[in-house]
Amino acid sequence: MIPRTMAEAQIPHRVDAGKFVDKNQQFNGEIDSSELTRLNEAVERCLTSVSCTLSFDRDEERHRLLVGSCSTRVAMLCQRCLNVVELDVSSQFELGLVFNDEQARQLPRRLEPVELDQNGLMDLWSVIEDEILLSLPAFPMHPENECHLQQPEPEESYSNVQQPNPFDVLAQLKQK
Ligand SMILES: [Zn+2]
Repeated sequence: MIPRTMAEAQIPHRVDAGKFVDKNQQFNGEIDSSELTRLNEAVERCLTSVSCTLSFDRDEERHRLLVGSCSTRVAMLCQRCLNVVELDVSSQFELGLVFNDEQARQLPRRLEPVELDQNGLMDLWSVIEDEILLSLPAFPMHPENECHLQQPEPEESYSNVQQPNPFDVLAQLKQK
């Protein structure tokens, strides 16, 4: 029996993108996040694998496309309290697959260019990793009510402190 995880497809690492575009190849699968070195360096820990839905295609103008989405869950350090905060990260993308700079320049603006090597091969894991890295928050933080460093309530901080009464001070001065 084929293990379920294998049947459900690990997203392949290096792919023949040119061929997949012609076949309109689609993928629904996962990447083991421990394989994504740059992502592991950018976060405290990866908590789940990266789930991906990918589709190789062409648009009406015959541009080669990789359209898809990916999501994962990571632990980062909250920039307010410096404790770990767990975050869901996801990205949707529409990439234009090109063979050279000239083709990249001709892409419409909505398509982000990804250059294939001369054989049409593409490092799919690295492309997905880039998308996740771009989606990480620059200043990860807990939601305010979950943060370990609670902002003091303004009313509370004032009412708890005994402010000297300016009239008492005046009275003391007059007694001298
Ligand atoms: Zn926090």
